[in-house]
Amino acid sequence: MVELLPVSALQHYLFCPRQCALIHAEKVWVENRFTVEGRIMHRRVDSEQRGRRAGADQDLSVPLKSERLRLYGIADVVEIVPGPDGREVPYPVEYKRGRPKILDWDRVQLCAQALCLEEMLGVSVPEGAIFYGKPRRREVVDFDHKLRVLVKETAMELHKLIAEARIPAAVKDKKCRSCSLAGECMPGVGNIKVESYLLSALKE
Ligand code: SF4
Repeated sequence: MVELLPVSALQHYLFCPRQCALIHAEKVWVENRFTVEGRIMHRRVDSEQRGRRAGADQDLSVPLKSERLRLYGIADVVEIVPGPDGREVPYPVEYKRGRPKILDWDRVQLCAQALCLEEMLGVSVPEGAIFYGKPRRREVVDFDHKLRVLVKETAMELHKLIAEARIPAAVKDKKCRSCSLAGECMPGVGNIKVESYLLSALKE
């Protein structure tokens, strides 16, 4: 049977492959301020009813699946909007607590949702949006060829990492400051030789 991984794992992989392996292979999860704020924001979206926004029908918490990418997930919101040829198309919207990011982590997650919708519904999904909590605004995302290729490549690398049951070494970086797993990962400590660690511990 094909093993499916959550769409959110793509974002974890791009943020840090070690964090991704700890969460999805070792099942380690620790909350911090950022994860709690994100969960509250998603819960608010989940608790709302199916509705309309600026004339567009909305479905909330839409289950997603792609056999091709071997991914599953839930879209926060899928709106139904007129496509380039006038026919209605799905328009996924993802809610994020923080600010827009320079790197493609969030855009990859959203584009993966679009690829799931395309496979499930047999329609084209050319565009979607990410709503950021700071500032409270939408960023429109064009699902262009480059982004689609990045999603497919990331999904392949993600499955390879999990299949190999490999935990990559910690690489200490400024992103570790916002990582909820910093306490479990201990970036930097892993690079100290065991012998010198034991010697310094004995001296203490
Ligand atoms: S603390 Fe740093 S190296 Fe460790 S999992 Fe988090 S981001 Fe990755």
